[in-house]
Amino acid sequence: MNPKIWLSSPHMGSKEFEYVKEAFDTNWIAPLGPHVNGFEQDIATRLGHGVHVAALSAGTAALHLALIQLGVQYGDEVICQSMTFSASANPIKYQGAIPVFVDSESDTWNMDPEVLRETIRDRFSRGKKPKAIIVVHLYGMPAKMDEILAVAKEFDIPVIEDAAEALGSMYKGRAAGTFGDFGILSFNGNKIITTSGGGALVSKSEEAIRHTRFLATQARDSAPHYQHSHVGYNYRMSNVCAGIGRGQMEVLTDRVNRRREINQYYREAFKDLDGITFLSEPSADYYSNFWLTTVLVDHPEVTREDIRLALEADNIESRPLWKPMHLQPVFEDAPFYGDGTSERLFEKGLCLPSGSNLIEDDLQRVVKIVRRLFVD
Ligand SMILES: *Cc1c(COP(=O)(O)O)cnc(C)c1O
Repeated sequence: MNPKIWLSSPHMGSKEFEYVKEAFDTNWIAPLGPHVNGFEQDIATRLGHGVHVAALSAGTAALHLALIQLGVQYGDEVICQSMTFSASANPIKYQGAIPVFVDSESDTWNMDPEVLRETIRDRFSRGKKPKAIIVVHLYGMPAKMDEILAVAKEFDIPVIEDAAEALGSMYKGRAAGTFGDFGILSFNGNKIITTSGGGALVSKSEEAIRHTRFLATQARDSAPHYQHSHVGYNYRMSNVCAGIGRGQMEVLTDRVNRRREINQYYREAFKDLDGITFLSEPSADYYSNFWLTTVLVDHPEVTREDIRLALEADNIESRPLWKPMHLQPVFEDAPFYGDGTSERLFEKGLCLPSGSNLIEDDLQRVVKIVRRLFVD
């Protein structure tokens, strides 16, 4: 059996272990400490635009705390991109609120701004004003932010940017995650950089980030005894994980460059194959970290499932695109607006192995198997 090729596996640099050792040496083994503060500062500096950052236990926790701070409560409606990972939508349910799913457009595969406008108009006509809009930068590709923000402003609805897959991506030269009222990042094991597990909430409001840290550490009021006037959460990142994060931030640019290089490699390798198209930056306004290289397979004899199975037979992991939330049994009662774009993408789309630690031999193995299906 050939060695396993993963879709996207952790890729440590040279400094992570040193930072973790420092945490041990100084006995800062807790959900606070100098690495947590340092990691937050590193992210804030990297994103720019004066944002503040709270390091948390997961991207999902960050989304949950964003919804709480936007006042999302039982029975409220929250608009969410349908084509995404379930973690974008689950926190809406944690609050007892109702997700309203919006379809993708075919340039970026992200939320369609026109469908968003129609959705809000229709919800208004039913006497419902959505409390927030969750837009996702899927696979690292920035959404059409100018258009999305214009619609949000028109109807005065706050925006949460799910940039879990898009650290290092930019729209019009500005970092993904810095456009909305809140941005969320993830450092799960499969993301472009990892802290083994973790996330962050990003905001231009220093007060909101201070309050996020308070809520994430059980909402303890300042008093010598345990005094609470808010419901609290145990969502803070540990100082050990933040140590890994500090090392990973030092290599983020390398990781983005390598993922983009891998994307380019596949483009070159498949450019003569009819039936394979890539998710591409629609214009120079978009800079994707290409967290995953994704393709659509549209061919009379080869399906994306044929490719996935052929790769699997050689111990290579690939995955269909995210299955849209409006097609998921857990969300079957939620309203959906769209024309079927995300469903079509799901039927034809495949994510190829894209980890920054893949070597030339790995990529050649993938390419050979895919090409054999088309050329034979
Ligand atoms: C990974 C991911 C999340 C969740 O982040 P966690 O850190 O795993 O909780 C949310 N949204 C999207 C789009 C993701 O890919």
